This record gives sequence, structure tokens and C-alpha cells, in this order.
Amino acid sequence: MPNAETHEKIGLGILCLGVPCLVFKSDISSLYMFMISTEFWIGTYYVNPDLDTNSRCRKRWGCLKFIWKSFKHRGVLHNPYLWISIFFVAKELDLEIWVIGIVASSLIHILTDMVGDKTRRIYQG
Ligand SMILES: [Zn+2]
Repeated sequence: MPNAETHEKIGLGILCLGVPCLVFKSDISSLYMFMISTEFWIGTYYVNPDLDTNSRCRKRWGCLKFIWKSFKHRGVLHNPYLWISIFFVAKELDLEIWVIGIVASSLIHILTDMVGDKTRRIYQG
């Protein structure tokens, strides 16, 4: 599994590449672009699946980090269906613009973990 620094670099890289792509290839308003970018940044640094371990992300929560201690590592927060469900529930409520960046960031995190695990298994035999 990639470490927090790797996850953050990947998140920032995608943010830096993704925002220009969205600007040039879509008709999303600049307000929505700002919201999605901010959510993605929050998802990279504050609300990501590694809240279930003693990660840099959890430590950023300061005195509120206790909220996440009951989650088992690689449990529900690392389940992509949780994040996809959050998106669809928000979509039903017409609130998807408020979660899409965090959901995208978390799904990329989970995908990165999966690729990292597979790669490590290949190299370790
Ligand atoms: Zn993870």
C-alpha cells in the first residue's frame, strides 16, 4: 500500500491535471470547478479512506481524530461501494456537487491502494 505522502502526491497531481482538463473540456461553471477542486483537496488531505489508521490524514483532525478510531483498517472506509453509495444518495438529494470531489479522491485512493498491493505481491512473489 502506498504511504500517505504518495497518496497526497498522486492526489495533487490529479488535481493539477484534472482541473485544466475540466476547464477546457467541459461546460462546468467556475464555481462548480472551484467546489470540486476544493473537495478533492479536502479528500486528499482530510477525508480519505486512511482515516481508519493512525495516518497523517487522521492526525490532521487534531482533537477530533477520536471519531475515526472505531473504524477497522481496510474496512468500510476502503470499500468503494461506500463512496459510490454516498455519491448516489447525494445525487438523489440533488447534492452531488457537494461530495463529488471527495468521492473521486477517495476512489482514486482505494484504486491506488489496490494497484500498490498487486504490485507488491508481484515483486515479492
Ligand atoms: Zn488506504
